[in-house]
Amino acid sequence: MYWCPECNVPLVASTCGCKTPGYEIPLTKPYDVRPALEHDRNVIKKYLNDRFGIETIPKILLLNKSGGIDRTDTIIANGVIFSRLTFDPLLREYTIELTPDALPFVIEEVSKGIVDITDEVAEKGNRHMGGKNVPCTTDVTDGPVIVHANGRYGTGWLRNNVVKVKSLGRPRPIEMPDPDREQVIRCNKPHLKNLERHAIRFIKTEKDLRPECNVAFSGGKDSTVVRELARKAGVTDCYYVDTGLEFPETAAFVESLGIPLILHGPDFQEGLRKNGLPTKDDRWCCEYLKLEPVRQWRETRGECTTIQGNRWYESFARAGLPGVAVNPYYSGQLNLSPIRSWRALEVFLYIWWRELPLNPLYEQGFERVGCWMCPAMLESEYEVTRELHPEKISEWEKIIGRYAKKEHISDAAMKCGWWRWKSPPPKMVSLMKERGIQISTKRSVNTQKPMKIKNKR
Ligand code: SF4
Ligand SMILES: [Zn+2]
Repeated sequence: MYWCPECNVPLVASTCGCKTPGYEIPLTKPYDVRPALEHDRNVIKKYLNDRFGIETIPKILLLNKSGGIDRTDTIIANGVIFSRLTFDPLLREYTIELTPDALPFVIEEVSKGIVDITDEVAEKGNRHMGGKNVPCTTDVTDGPVIVHANGRYGTGWLRNNVVKVKSLGRPRPIEMPDPDREQVIRCNKPHLKNLERHAIRFIKTEKDLRPECNVAFSGGKDSTVVRELARKAGVTDCYYVDTGLEFPETAAFVESLGIPLILHGPDFQEGLRKNGLPTKDDRWCCEYLKLEPVRQWRETRGECTTIQGNRWYESFARAGLPGVAVNPYYSGQLNLSPIRSWRALEVFLYIWWRELPLNPLYEQGFERVGCWMCPAMLESEYEVTRELHPEKISEWEKIIGRYAKKEHISDAAMKCGWWRWKSPPPKMVSLMKERGIQISTKRSVNTQKPMKIKNKR
């Protein structure tokens, strides 16, 4: 990913629409950078304000997922790695940490969360402070802080009256243009046109490999894009599988689009009785609720090509997905993946450029759209679901409560999302130990390796 220093916009290709060469932004895996939408922006604004007194944030912020227990996003703004946002599944709160590179853009607005270590630095001499643990007296609560020492500023982390200094320097305030979405689209338009042309050509070349061609529409952003590309390539047949566990927002969105065929999954409660809770490492629900209804439908209709929105950058499981592949669940279906190499940012830019309707759940705080109780959901998304649909969550919590009782899992562990795994990963086990949470009321901790995940929600 690149950034135009002239326009102050993110670029998906190395040169801006204004012809200025962009500079590269270093990203961490899985590199699926996406724009911050309304709910993300509200969270970022609130936490920057609560912690540091910062009131203004740039119109364009990008998020890049990085490894963590729950939601952990690196925030990119003004062409720098700006901050890090993490959600704590136990405290049900976010923490926002600024990077040293963000200071020139915010230092004039920072009014809180400052720890002064002038005296401590004077005592130790004016040496390099990066990485040092400095004892201090302050009213600031533990967490990320701005460190100040005699006119110099930096970032650090405060814990029990000791601040770990990450940097200390003299950030010079920088003013940058504050472009909006339209400007970002303009700067990226040549690349978006290319992406569109290639994808349409791909669909036209491959769609007739089988007698029928259709689009698998999920209600999500990726299938919104492939539905449009398919339409431009002359394919209008489209189906959607209603699992019976759809968000009302998704159901209304699908209805508003007039999707011609809606298949229905079988009774979830029946599956629940047979298979127990679906989990991240045992998503039987995908096969049961989504794949099987499609297989049954296709058995009555015969072979087809199906255009789907799967992308390499979505998950490690999808990295390397070929453009054309036989559906592993039903060989009569040949899957075409025209946007397999697109990133989430390209998907959103395309949706904005072509003014395609978008499922409202994205602006409401969901990174991915699936069933409302999906085990693959982040705890931060689960909290949004609780706000949007408290009655659904209270029903679901009765179900997982029964499961917890049967399996002797403590309430505190369940509250952190322990039910989401059959074999919880080591990072989850460590979190429980670190916070002193009893996992099982009877059994010892299951330390087995997690099962291989077959399907992504
Ligand atoms: S979206 Fe989640 S809950 Fe729904 S079928 Fe897929 S894995 Fe299961
Ligand atoms: Zn530019």
